[in-house]
Amino acid sequence: MTTPTPSVRSQCPYCGVGCGLELLPPAQPGQAVKKDEEGNPMWTARGDRSHPSSQGQVCIKGATVGETLARGRLHQPLYRASLDQDFEPVSWEQALQTITDQIQTTLANKGADAIAMYGSGQFHTEDYYLAQKLLKGALGTNNFDANSRLCMSSAVAGYTRSLGSDGPPACYDDLDHCSVAVLIGTNTAECHPVLFQRLIKRKKRNPGSVTIVVIDPRRTDTAKAADIHLPIAPGTDLALLHGIAHLVMRENGQDVAFIDDHTENYKPFFDVVARWTPRKVARFCGIPEKRLREVAELFHRKQRVLSLWSMGVNQRREGTAVVQGLINLHLLTGQIGKEGAGPFSLTGQPNAMGGREAGGLAHLLPGYRIVTNDQHRSEVEQAWGFPQGQIAATPGLGAWQQVEAMERGDLDLWWVAATNPLVSMPELDRVKAAMQNCALVVVSEAYADSETSHYAHLLLPASQWSEKAGAMTNSERRVTYCPAYRPRHGQSRPDWEVFAEVGRRLGFEQHFSYDSAAEVYAEFSQLTEGRVCDMSGLSHELLSESGPQQWPFPRGSEPSQGAKRLYSDHQFPTPSGKARFSTDLPQGLAEPPCDTYPLVLTVGRYLGQWHTMTRTGKVKRLQTMHPEPLLEIHPEDASDLQIKDGALTAVSSRRGHLTARAKITNRIRKGSVFLPMHWGFTQDQACEVNALMHDQACPVSKQPELKACAVIAAPAVSAIKPPEQVSNQLVKLRRWFSPAAQ
Ligand code: SF4
Repeated sequence: MTTPTPSVRSQCPYCGVGCGLELLPPAQPGQAVKKDEEGNPMWTARGDRSHPSSQGQVCIKGATVGETLARGRLHQPLYRASLDQDFEPVSWEQALQTITDQIQTTLANKGADAIAMYGSGQFHTEDYYLAQKLLKGALGTNNFDANSRLCMSSAVAGYTRSLGSDGPPACYDDLDHCSVAVLIGTNTAECHPVLFQRLIKRKKRNPGSVTIVVIDPRRTDTAKAADIHLPIAPGTDLALLHGIAHLVMRENGQDVAFIDDHTENYKPFFDVVARWTPRKVARFCGIPEKRLREVAELFHRKQRVLSLWSMGVNQRREGTAVVQGLINLHLLTGQIGKEGAGPFSLTGQPNAMGGREAGGLAHLLPGYRIVTNDQHRSEVEQAWGFPQGQIAATPGLGAWQQVEAMERGDLDLWWVAATNPLVSMPELDRVKAAMQNCALVVVSEAYADSETSHYAHLLLPASQWSEKAGAMTNSERRVTYCPAYRPRHGQSRPDWEVFAEVGRRLGFEQHFSYDSAAEVYAEFSQLTEGRVCDMSGLSHELLSESGPQQWPFPRGSEPSQGAKRLYSDHQFPTPSGKARFSTDLPQGLAEPPCDTYPLVLTVGRYLGQWHTMTRTGKVKRLQTMHPEPLLEIHPEDASDLQIKDGALTAVSSRRGHLTARAKITNRIRKGSVFLPMHWGFTQDQACEVNALMHDQACPVSKQPELKACAVIAAPAVSAIKPPEQVSNQLVKLRRWFSPAAQ
């Protein structure tokens, strides 16, 4: 009898819930080999019951990931000297030489700051770490940023300013223990479905155990399950949070002992929120005062309040202030560092957390260090074996600043890896033009048909999750070892290997001599020793043998000894050891509606699609769930604008236009419209919603306000399609990733 091939365990490579997956091989004794739609042997995924974060649960994206791994892949490096030429295949040797030549020329002509890399929460921690060592260490520029800038940087800044360090204080078990769950700016039902189902199951099994509050301008699937839904006007959440604080104080719901012993800046905070009276807040937010009072009553020192948030809070020009406004409520009521309570950011990507730990933003260094801190730079320089002063003391270019630098002609090399900025950035037409103004655009991608590939000079085929070993950290600080269980696709290579190879070719052989991802991880984890995110006790070996672990996990820790929650001792990593109340005043939207553009366009995600669809766009079941992007519009607005249900509708902002079919619904507030963010110009139903968005960003976190801009909508005569030049490029590029090209 033939023995079945064993399954392997890994973390889902989609959202930041980071569910455990069990992967089953294509061939099992006595069964036909499972194949995807292109005939490639296909691994199938199911929930891993042994994974503590998800306990066997999985959503449709994770369950279908096996269908995406071999389709539409880039097989070999491709190069063209200018964007109007066709790509031609080149060897890895030629590709790497092109990169190192460009780096050396740029260093000689303009200096290291004319080089930038834009990475991704799709990276494994090892990829992230070596990108930092290459850019910030070997080259001496801090111009590494990641798509976490568009996703989580307001959470990072908010935690750091209020609590002294990045790091979500809570864990998923808190969903089972909270008495109040406040979901603000998060459509958890569609974007983090496994967590949402955990909360809903608890509520159904134990009626009355938890009150769910949803704060969202849109009546999402999440809001439908709420006990209280506050459909506030877009951009008014900070005022709402101040209003809740005002009422908590008025009703003596604050935790005086906690405030006295463990916080600072209370008096200025008190003075700010004193001005946000219930009547003023209710009018400002467009909600009944009664509802505001009901929510404020739930925030009380005697409750266990868990606050969950994601993009609706972070993607705002006052994103950091709103994060801090929410943390204020937890400090006011002492709801932090204890079971069932705390502020808890839900990460969009599978390893955005690992990126933060590895220093993967332009102002960070590994181990939650920052580039402006002399001591931090010195520690990292020493660990990396570079001379003192090698790491620049100023933050590098953030994501949008990299685009602006290309516009000015200040960047001669832009290296994009594992992300698709030509769907996810704001003002997409500006990004396209900027990329045409850069001497060499390198795109490292697993898939050949990403929108960004069409504006690249050099395409590098990347081995993706399942083909390379590495670690990822999910939203609750749990690190999972992700093994390589499939062969590398075509000539693809893991990003960390490519970064190391470039480092060696630039003369840093000693610094980049690694034989395995395990060696890279070992070096990284030692750099976290003594930091808030201490994971010096973790290694590939331990994670592989003992399963996923939460940090902090200092050297010598036993498996499962990682801390579930941060700050249980109420000691915060600030100079005083105390957390800090913030005092920001609400500003509202950067681009409010006006007579010309009277509607607020807000964007979000569908359950069955993930980000820019490079993976999920290849799964027929998911395409059937969401065949096209739909413009949600309120019945009264539709009537005023003579827009019919199902009719093609044009939407315009100050920056661009698109068309989409209208869906008339009460889900959306009057005065607002909604579109999903997934469909880029390579999709049949192209709908470049971020082309309409502006570039105004939070001044602290530099995270753009991708959640709202002012638009006008009207019946459309015909659909807006990609220009002919782009369509031709699509056809040409697809030659290189058809199966025949293998
Ligand atoms: Fe993957 Fe997120 Fe779905 Fe879990 S909830 S299976 S991590 S996409």
